[in-house]
Parts: sequence; C-alpha cells; structure tokens
Amino acid sequence: IFSLQNIEKSFGSNTVLKDISLSVYQGDVVSIIGSSGGGKSTLLRCATLLERFEKGSLTYGDLPVATADAQGNAVYGDKKTLQQARQRFGLVFQNFNLFPHRTVLQNVMDAPVRVAKMDKDQARDKAMGLIERMGLSGKEDMVPCELSGGQQQRVSIARALCLDPDVVFFDEPTSALDPELTREVLKVIKSLAAEHRTMVIVTHEIGFARDVADRVVFMDGGLIVEDGTPDQVINNPQHERTRRFLMQAT
Ligand code: ATP
Ligand code: MG
Repeated sequence: IFSLQNIEKSFGSNTVLKDISLSVYQGDVVSIIGSSGGGKSTLLRCATLLERFEKGSLTYGDLPVATADAQGNAVYGDKKTLQQARQRFGLVFQNFNLFPHRTVLQNVMDAPVRVAKMDKDQARDKAMGLIERMGLSGKEDMVPCELSGGQQQRVSIARALCLDPDVVFFDEPTSALDPELTREVLKVIKSLAAEHRTMVIVTHEIGFARDVADRVVFMDGGLIVEDGTPDQVINNPQHERTRRFLMQAT
C-alpha cells in the first residue's frame, strides 16, 4: 500500500526521525506505540504529506511521492503526483479536525466532491451509508458542537473513509475522549479491522494495540526499535527499551 524507506526528518538541529523504514501491505492493521516525543506523529505526518522529510523515499503503490537521489536526499514528485497520493489515504486526528460550521453530512461529503470531483448525489449516498455505519443516523444535519466527542470522532472516521482510501491513518484517535466514548470509537475501529481494512494506528492503549493489530511497531528516539506481531512485540519484546516502555505503560 505504501512504503517509506530510510526516512530522515529534522526540525532545525533536532533529528526527529532517523533512518525509518516501514512498508504496509494490503489488509495490515499496524499499531504504532512508543514514548512521548519518539516521533510517532511526525512519522504519520510525513506519510500523509503534512510534513516533508529531508532524506529517503515514499511510494503509495506505484506512485513515487518522493524518491531518494544518489546522496539519499528526498526529491518530491510534482503537484499532480502528490494530489493523487492524497486520495489514497484517510486521516483521523486526535482532535477530530471537523469543519465547525458545516453539518455532519457536509463534513463527510466534502473530500469526495471537492477533491475527487465525485458527483454530488453519489457522494451524498456514500456519505449517508457511512454515517449510518458509524451509528449516527439522524444526525446528518447537526453541526459538530451538537455532538459528543465520541460522535465527532466517528464523523471524522466516516469522512476518512468516504474517498475509499487504500489506508487510514489514526493519530491517537481516543486520547481526547473519556473512557466510555473511547470504547465506542475503539469498537468502530475494531469493526474496520475485522473487515481487513488497511490501517495504521498510533495509540497509547497497549491493550487495544494487542487486540486489534496484527502488527505492532515500537518507536523510540526517532527509530523503529521493534516491528512484529503483537505477541512478539508486546508479550516477548526483544529490546530493553521496549520492555521499559511497556512496564511504564501497563
Ligand atoms: P506523543 O506521544 O507525545 O504524541 P510523538 O511520538 O507523536 O509524541 P512527535 O510529535 O512526532 O512525537 O515529536 C517528536 C519530536 O519532534 C519532539 O521532540 C517534538 O518536540 C518535535 N517536533 C514535532 N513537531 C515539531 C514542529 N512542528 N516543530 C519543531 N519540533 C517538532
Ligand atoms: Mg503524537
């Protein structure tokens, strides 16, 4: 689905990602865990073109988003390539990032109509189906502030799915929610995992990572320290750093 190779990313003199390689395949459900400041969000932002990395390469399927030159420096593709790549993934943030003055339906339909130039009626049907799937029927015409945090997050999941992305990225989708609302959002994500939708989920919930993912990546200090099945990484970590993190987290 996508492949990041030898990524390096710095903010000023602070190198936040150091030689990161990560390939995600059709049907993978990958959880990324790790200590605060380890570079998880930056990695997601690089994969979703919200940040540019300085070294390495990124491809989405056959689309070369950025290629590495002979020195390893990242050379980004043209605008059209980046625009095409943007239609291949969905993104769900911690803080929902919905348009506050637009209704639920408008929020979900926006990208298909504006970005993918989908026919309006078709986009509306698609959006209504997803809204129902997220358990939000009857709330189409409400604006985000009339909904609970859990409901808002389910709207942003519907929005992320509306372009039929190859992969959906989640950055701590439940960390702004209280436990009950967290459960309802995790339930939705689990149901997507059961359909083998390709997903990459940054989460602090180790139990959820173990239950829902078929692959767990542990990041620390800008490096991928472990990458394996939940059983390998969470139950039998090979590295001291992973063990220390898991001890604190659980
Ligand atoms: P958390 O678990 O707290 O969300 P994280 O693993 O997502 O942490 P990042 O947000 O990727 O970590 O941050 C990694 C490092 O990059 C931190 O040292 C942070 O200060 C730095 N950083 C992130 N974004 C920026 C930015 N826009 N400008 C400068 N430094 C940044
Ligand atoms: Mg983060």
